[in-house]
This record gives sequence, C-alpha cells and structure tokens, in this order.
Amino acid sequence: MIKYCKNCLFPNTKPDIYFDKDDICDACNSAKRKHLNSQSDLNWDERSKEFNQIIQETLQSTKFREYDCIVPVSGGKDSTWQTHAMKVIHGLRVLAVTFDQFDQSDIGTHNLEVLKSIGVDHIHFTLNPNIVKKFVYKGFETVGDPYWVNHVGIFTIPIHIAVKFKIPLIIYGENPIFEYGGPKYSRDNMVMNKRWRQEFGGMRGYREEDMIDEDTKKDDIKILFYPDDELIEKNNIKAIFYGHFFKWTPVEHTKFVKKKYGWKSLEKPQYGSFMTEENCDMEFIDIRESIKYLKYGYGRATDQLNIMIREKLISRQEALKIVRKIDGKVNPKNITKFCNYLNISLEEYNSIIDNFVNKEIFYLNNKKEWILKLKRS
Ligand SMILES: [Zn+2]
Repeated sequence: MIKYCKNCLFPNTKPDIYFDKDDICDACNSAKRKHLNSQSDLNWDERSKEFNQIIQETLQSTKFREYDCIVPVSGGKDSTWQTHAMKVIHGLRVLAVTFDQFDQSDIGTHNLEVLKSIGVDHIHFTLNPNIVKKFVYKGFETVGDPYWVNHVGIFTIPIHIAVKFKIPLIIYGENPIFEYGGPKYSRDNMVMNKRWRQEFGGMRGYREEDMIDEDTKKDDIKILFYPDDELIEKNNIKAIFYGHFFKWTPVEHTKFVKKKYGWKSLEKPQYGSFMTEENCDMEFIDIRESIKYLKYGYGRATDQLNIMIREKLISRQEALKIVRKIDGKVNPKNITKFCNYLNISLEEYNSIIDNFVNKEIFYLNNKKEWILKLKRS
C-alpha cells in the first residue's frame, strides 16, 4: 500500500526515502533543518567557515597551477549560479566541465553560452556518439533510465580532468541525499567519491563494467571508469557538495541568473513537469520521468512541487491537484523522436516501458493506459 508524506507528495515507494513517526519524509525534515537557523542543529555559519578553510588550503596548492577548482556544469540554473559563486563570490579560477547531453536542446546550448560568459574556461566533453547511443538504449532497457550514461559521465569525467590538470577541488551542487531524501549516514556528507557515485549517483545498481560486451571492450570506455584511488590521493583531489556548506535555494538561483546573465527558461513546461526552469537542456526528460512514475507512482512534477511546498510557495492541496493531472505524462512526438534516435519500433519501446510498471499500484484500462489504482491523497 502506498503511503504519502503528510507534508509533501513523496510516496514511500520512492527509493531511499525514510518516514518519521509522524509520516513526514526525510526530505521535508531536511528542509526544516535547513531553514530553522538558530534553532537547528545545522549551523550554517560554521559550515561556511569550513568551506572557506577548504578554499584557503586549496589556494596554497594551486598557486603555480592553471586552475583552482572544477565546476561540473550542464548550463542549468544551478550550475550557472554555482559557477558565478565560485568565480565571483569566492574568487577562484574555475574550469567548467560539461559531459555532453545526447539530447541537448537549443535552449540548453544558449544557457551553456551564458554560463561561459561569466568568464570561465570550459571543457565540453563528448563521448563517442556510437557508444553513447548504445548506452542510452542499455540504460533505458535495463534500468529504465536513458540518462544512465550521463550520470556516469558527470560523476567521472570531471575527476579524470582534475587528475590530468592536478586540480585539487571539484565542486558539485546540492547534496541530493540531504535535499531529496536518503539514508541518514549520507545526509550530512560533503564528499562525492567512487562509493557515493555507485550508491547515489543515478547508476541504479548498474556499473560501467556491466556495459562491456563483445562489441564494447573495456579499452573503448576506459574514461567511464572512476580514476584509481591512488591517483586521487597522490594529487590530493577532493570532490564536495557546495550545498553542504550553504543553503541550497534553487528558486533564488533562477531569479539571480536570469537577471544577471540572461539565462533562459523554457516557454512552457515539458510534459510531466510543472516548472519551466528545470531540465531545460534535456529533450527526453519526460520519457525518463514517465518510467519513474510507472515504477514508483510519482514523476517530475511531484519532485518540483515538493520543493515549492517545502519553500512554502504552494499548499500541499494545490500541488496535489496539479500532480494528479500532469505527473508521468509524455509528449507523443518525443516518443517518435526517441525511437528514431535509437532506431527501435514503437512496439519495442512500449514493451520495454511495460516491463517497469509496478503492477501492484497500476492497472491497465481499456484504452491500454496505465492508471494508478488509488487516487493520490
Ligand atoms: Zn515530505
């Protein structure tokens, strides 16, 4: 039986979510800890001092090198703001690194240009497109996530570049476990490493080794393997979450980067989404999110509206009305485009999707649509 958080709209079917005795999820409890200020156990002043300490130590070792830090970026509102923060607020010499989005939209391209215009050097890393296409299919078919290869890329390529240029600091955005739910031991963790990537980095139990077959040799995808611990230690490289040290406020980030740099959001939300400011660079986000919806009973609109509920920008009741209408919806044109990209038939697409449906919570109606058995409340 699905149970929902009493404060937001997360169901207990979401992986890595924990409910307290009052049926409040840990993402909502984190939001409370984040905003309580002096009454919270979480002391932002101390954490910002800790960050400044890390910066001072970094600057001592980078004096004779080209860069102080790497910021992995997509060109989204958060990475644009983060690049601004590192370059302008913290005064670091930033190398921005992008792992190429296989379905990059025009607006995503525009926003990446905006990000570079903050005044940073940028590496746009593109993996062999034939391998990308194969892995998009494998991710879609095996774990229900066409973006599997992107998750691996964004948590691996910047580390390789850090090793090559001897850049000791890599700065990721929010700590997703703290913001969106996950085990207690990782909520106050500031470090991204190989173990974190494997467990929480969107790999869904699938490893880079699992991609090796008769056509794809290990040598063809060596770059997707996490660099050896020895190399990381030798170069004293550390990857951390900026959101561990400062309050992560995506709504503010959007306002800021729009006004200051001309960052653009979408004209209207994608299918299955409520916000126009998120995943602007990803054309097929509705496909991934529709699979998530069929697996767990919630989609992208829920994620987005939950943030708004926790920031007290919308009531739970209002948000519920919206997610009932739009969660899990897919643009039919996108399905055709996606099938064309992968060179698969609509029948194959549908049969893969059907494999992921949680039949305990969905039933098939007479129009052959998957419907949640219980109305969300
Ligand atoms: Zn909640």
